[in-house]
Amino acid sequence: MSERFRRPAIRLGRLAVLPLLALLISTASGDEPAAPPEKPTTGQADGSGDKSATKTSRPTRKESKTPSSSGSKPRSNKVDMSPVPPNKKAEKKDLKRLGEKFKLRQTAHYSILYDTSEEDVKLFAAAIERTYRSCMNYTQRLGFDAHPPKHKLLIYYFEEHGDYSKFSVKLGKGQREQSNPGVFFPDMNRSMFYNFRNQESYRQLREQAEQRIAQLREQLNQPGSNRRQIAQEIAQARRLANFSNVQGGDQNEATIQHEVAHQVLWNIGFHNPDNFFANPRWLAEGTAMLFEPVSTGKSANFGALNKERLKEFQELVRQNQLIPLRDFISTHGYFGPQTIGIAYPQSWALTHYLNRMKKDKVREYAELINKRPKDFETTPEKEIADFEKVFGKVDDKWVQSWLNWMKTVR
Ligand SMILES: [Zn+2]
Repeated sequence: MSERFRRPAIRLGRLAVLPLLALLISTASGDEPAAPPEKPTTGQADGSGDKSATKTSRPTRKESKTPSSSGSKPRSNKVDMSPVPPNKKAEKKDLKRLGEKFKLRQTAHYSILYDTSEEDVKLFAAAIERTYRSCMNYTQRLGFDAHPPKHKLLIYYFEEHGDYSKFSVKLGKGQREQSNPGVFFPDMNRSMFYNFRNQESYRQLREQAEQRIAQLREQLNQPGSNRRQIAQEIAQARRLANFSNVQGGDQNEATIQHEVAHQVLWNIGFHNPDNFFANPRWLAEGTAMLFEPVSTGKSANFGALNKERLKEFQELVRQNQLIPLRDFISTHGYFGPQTIGIAYPQSWALTHYLNRMKKDKVREYAELINKRPKDFETTPEKEIADFEKVFGKVDDKWVQSWLNWMKTVR
């Protein structure tokens, strides 16, 4: 097994610390290409920080029925949202490990261990249940025979970045950057997040705005003050404070949806359950990115176009930076530091195209990947053979059809 397959963390890397100025003038940009992947922590990269959890928390293959690749399944929008049982032993053990500040909140499909406010954990719980529904809905629409997870999925939600990063170190996963608010560890089958509204740049902005409001209120009470102007300034400062809350919240949500999609898709049988790294990385990341768009209403987010990734992809096309497709699908290697900023948008564009134009083939491909044995070791030949077996020969014509179609995406 080569080193890169032992990399334990699947991360959303595009979120970067936004300079305050950019925050003030733009709501739409500020993203950077994906950050370099984490280096495996020596001797602990396989989750030895929590060996018993590794043993007990793997998703299981569905035993009754195996997905059939012959013919289409009935496709329904109805998603079974009935609750699954908790893994009480794991909850108890994890709570103890996280420390006394932490509490447990169970939802239909998750055990959330958190030290945030009740208000924040409620928002978080709603977001991850929406992502669960989206993932189930997605697999059902593909005609893929998904199943609910055996137990509620375990997720940690930290109020503070410092505690979040420290706990990652305790798990043997190394420190976590402040710019990256969430991560899923397939080897432990846990994901963890911190409340991104507490990211330093947002926090500073909010605190400055709140201080300014307090000052202005004092001025209001002084005799002879220009009450009208002060009221306007208060409103402006209030907007800034709210904005930093919303912006932090949105980025938090996109990350949560991406990472939780990895976890759910793995536990409902969409990805190979025996070995997460038997799944082509472009497929795992590309599919998770389908779930990134932040919901604007009550409905699930899935199905919306990922405009941020589209922009990144279009920029790569303009700069002629795409990796030749055959090379790209042949290895996980492009998710290394040099090319990871290309690998994410290119994975998204490929997955987006396949899902929109070759949906039945996506099911077939996922089923094929699911059959890879536990000890599967990838080679470029195997990756290309499996891809071409389902999607056809990746020649110039294939690539051109994809790129032409991508030009029509708005
Ligand atoms: Zn990811």
